Amino acid sequence: MDNTQGLVVVGSVAFDTIEARGVRKEMVLGGSGSFFCTAASYFTPVKLVAVVGDDFPKVHLDFFASRGISTEGLIRAPGKTFHWSGRYADDLASRQSLATELNVFADFKPKLPDAWRESEFIFLGNIHPSLQLDVLTQIRRPRLVAMDTMNFWIEGQLEALKRVLERVDLLVINDEEARMLAGQHNLPRAARAIRAMGPKTVIVKRGDSGALLFHENGVFAAPAYPLEEVVDPTGAGDTFAGGFMGYLARVRDLGPQAVRRAMFYGSVMASFCVEAFSLDRMRELSTGEIEGRYRAFRDLTHFEDVRL
Ligand code: AMP
Repeated sequence: MDNTQGLVVVGSVAFDTIEARGVRKEMVLGGSGSFFCTAASYFTPVKLVAVVGDDFPKVHLDFFASRGISTEGLIRAPGKTFHWSGRYADDLASRQSLATELNVFADFKPKLPDAWRESEFIFLGNIHPSLQLDVLTQIRRPRLVAMDTMNFWIEGQLEALKRVLERVDLLVINDEEARMLAGQHNLPRAARAIRAMGPKTVIVKRGDSGALLFHENGVFAAPAYPLEEVVDPTGAGDTFAGGFMGYLARVRDLGPQAVRRAMFYGSVMASFCVEAFSLDRMRELSTGEIEGRYRAFRDLTHFEDVRL
C-alpha cells in the first residue's frame, strides 16, 4: 500500500454505558473512532489516531487488529479511558447524555506517524475541536477532509469548532445539532448557513428518517433501512460516516455518482450498527451481507420515470 491510500481517522475510543428500553450495558466498547473505523474497515485500510487509558483491555485492541485497523497512532496513556453514558427514550429517537468523562482525552496530543501524513482521506471524528485541528495541521496534501461534531462541543467550544469548519470539505452532523449550529430550524436553510462557515458539503443525519446531502449541485436523500427491530442507536452516525468515507477512500472518486453510492453504503453500515449494542453486529459482517443490504436499499428507493 502506498502512503496516500486508506483513511486516517481521529476520534474517541470509549467505554460506553447505555440504557435502552430497560436494558443496561456497562462499559462496552464505544467511541466515535471505534464505530467509524470498524465500519470503514470493510472498505479500505484504516489508520486510527486516539488515546485510551491503562484500563483498556487487550481484547479490544485485538478486535481492531482483526479488522485490519492500524493502531500505531493509538496512544495508551496513564489514567482512565474516556467514558460516556447515555439513556434513550422508549422510542429510541432521543437520548440524554448522563456522563461525559474525558479522562485521558483531557491531556491528549495527537501525533501522526510520519507515513500517515501523506494520507488523502481524513475523518475528524467527534472529539474536542482543537484536537481535530491539531490532526489537520499534520496532514500534508489531503484530498477530502470530513468532520463530525456534537452538541457538547457546539455548546462549549464554538470558537474552536468554527476554526475547524473553515478548513474542512464536508461536515456530517445530526439534524438537532445542525439546527443548533446554524441557529435555524429549517434544515435546507441550516445547511446553507453551515456551508457558508466553510464545508462545501453538509450531510445531515436524521436517525430513522435517513440522511440528506447538501452540496453545490443541490440536495440528495438516502432513507434509513426500515428495520423491524432496533436495539441501540449509539454510534449509528459515526458508522454512517465510516461507510460513507470508507467507500470513497476505496474508489478514490469524488464524482457525484460515487458520492451518491457512498450515501447508501453509509446507510447500509448504520442499519447494521443499530441491530445490536456496542459494535456487536459489526464485528463480523460478510461482503455478501453488505452487498445484500445495498441491493435491498436499491429496491427500496428505485422508481421509474413518470409518464402521464
Ligand atoms: P453517536 O451515537 O453517533 O452520536 O455516537 C455515540 C458515540 O460517541 C459513543 O460511543 C460515545 O462514546 C461517543 N461520544 C459521546 N460524547 C462524546 C464526546 N463529547 N466526545 C467524543 N465522543 C463522544
